Amino acid sequence: MTGFIDSHVHLADPQFDADREAVIARARDAGAAGLVCIGESLTRAHAARAIAEAHPGFVWWTAGVHPHDAAGYDPVRDEPAIRECLAAGAVAVGECGLDYHYDLSPRLVQRRVFASQLALAAEAGRAVVVHSREAAEDTAAMVREAGAAGILGVLHCHTGPVALADAALEAGWCISFAGVITFRKWDDTALLRAIPDDRLLVETDAPYLAPVPHRGKRNEPMHVPQVIAALAAARQATPEFMTSVTAANAARLLTLG
Ligand SMILES: [Zn+2]
Repeated sequence: MTGFIDSHVHLADPQFDADREAVIARARDAGAAGLVCIGESLTRAHAARAIAEAHPGFVWWTAGVHPHDAAGYDPVRDEPAIRECLAAGAVAVGECGLDYHYDLSPRLVQRRVFASQLALAAEAGRAVVVHSREAAEDTAAMVREAGAAGILGVLHCHTGPVALADAALEAGWCISFAGVITFRKWDDTALLRAIPDDRLLVETDAPYLAPVPHRGKRNEPMHVPQVIAALAAARQATPEFMTSVTAANAARLLTLG
């Protein structure tokens, strides 16, 4: 596989409705080897599936429930629905996790819903795509437990703290960086250097978090090279090396075929 993999892009987001095919074409032209389209709700997962199925071998999809929507998670309805997605070709469970910044769902409920999705990943032998914001301690505890149960995953759009990255690394997980690391206020070079080569992923999290010099505009997968450039500079590696190693890691973790 040559080229970069955007390991986390919300291609099913309505912000791409007008020009989704052009966005995918521009990603290819920019050197993408593949895109992982995140299903952050079951509705989005079904849309993500349709996009992936229209681009076999280039777009893959995931299925899960975002922590913002944890309060609406009904295990009786949603566990079988996620299970069905995994049987239908979703490559990972997620985006799921904990968000104590917005607290859009009660924390106890967020933890319960995250645990439910970790269990589904374990059952299917699939990885988990995890969102964690201002919830480092609880996320680390749950990632440690998941690792002990043999579940692998990725901390997406990681911004620290390093203790959370360390817990994930010890559990055998990967760490993914997004455009945030290109922002002027980003100064945590040590974090960018702390992750071993074989555990690094890159992503856009598009349509959000456009990297410099596109900050504030709608993001799209063609901007992954800006993230790779920032990572390469921090790690004193070449962009070519960071591109191939992050693509190989994404392909291995998510079993992209
Ligand atoms: Zn996301």
